[in-house]
Amino acid sequence: MRIQLLPSTFDAQGVANLEQRLTCFLVDDCVAVDAGSIAIALTNEQRTKVKDIIVTHPHMDHIASLPIFIDDLYPTLQEPMRIYATEEVIGLLERDVFNWNVYPRFSDLKNDYGPVMEYVPIPIGKPFSVAHLSVVAVPVNHIVPTVGLVVSDGQTSVAFSSDTAETEAFWTIVNEMKDLDALLIEASFPDRMAELAEVSRHFTPASLGQELKKLTHNGMDIMTVHLKPSYRDEIVEQLKALKIPKLRVMEPGRIYEW
Ligand SMILES: [Zn+2]
Ligand SMILES: [Zn+2]
Repeated sequence: MRIQLLPSTFDAQGVANLEQRLTCFLVDDCVAVDAGSIAIALTNEQRTKVKDIIVTHPHMDHIASLPIFIDDLYPTLQEPMRIYATEEVIGLLERDVFNWNVYPRFSDLKNDYGPVMEYVPIPIGKPFSVAHLSVVAVPVNHIVPTVGLVVSDGQTSVAFSSDTAETEAFWTIVNEMKDLDALLIEASFPDRMAELAEVSRHFTPASLGQELKKLTHNGMDIMTVHLKPSYRDEIVEQLKALKIPKLRVMEPGRIYEW
C-alpha cells in the first residue's frame, strides 16, 4: 500500500516544505483519507484517479479544499465523486459547507454525464469497501464527531487515528487486527500546551506516549502526523525523546510503502 500525506505548505517557488497545515492522505493514488489539501497538492495524474474520499470529521483542516476539488473537476466527472462519512458528518457537511452559502450543494447537481458528488454513509465497526480497500471506522475522542480508520488491501493494513485524544474503541480494533503494518497517529501540540491539547482533544508527545501503551502490536511503523506548524521543532524533539522504537514523523510529500 502506498500512502502519501499530501503537502500543504509551499515556498515562493512552489516547493513543498514539511509544515503540515492541512490533512489529506492519498492511498494507492486513488483513495483520499480526508481532503484538506486535495485540490492544491495532487499531481494532474493523481487528480484524474481519485474518485473516493473518506472524510473522518468536518474540521476545516480536513476538508478545506474539498469543495474546490469538486468544483475543478465539475465538467469532466463521468461518475460522481464519492464522499464516505458517517451520517452525522454528512449532515454537518451539508449544513455547514455544501449549503449554497459557503459553496454549492454539489450533491444536488449534475453535469453532462450525471451527478457530480454522492455521499456514501459509512457504518461504525463494520467493514465497508472503498475502491479496492476494506475499511473499518470507529469513533475516536475529538471535539466533533470523528472516526479513526483501519484500511486494508488484503495484504497490508494501516490504521489512521484521525484527530483524537485518549480513546478506547480505536485500540480495540487495532489490537484485534492479525497484522498491522503502520499506525498513523496525531501529535498536535507540544507538552507545555497540554491544557489546550486536552480541551481541543488532541495529543501532545507526552499524552501520545501514554496512549501508545494501549497498543499491543509490536514492531509496526508508528508515523506521527498533524504537528502544528508553529511548534513543529519542539514537538519533533519531544517525540524523539519518547524513544519509542519505529516512531517517526511522517513527511508530507513523501511516498511511503507498506
Ligand atoms: Zn479536528
Ligand atoms: Zn485536524
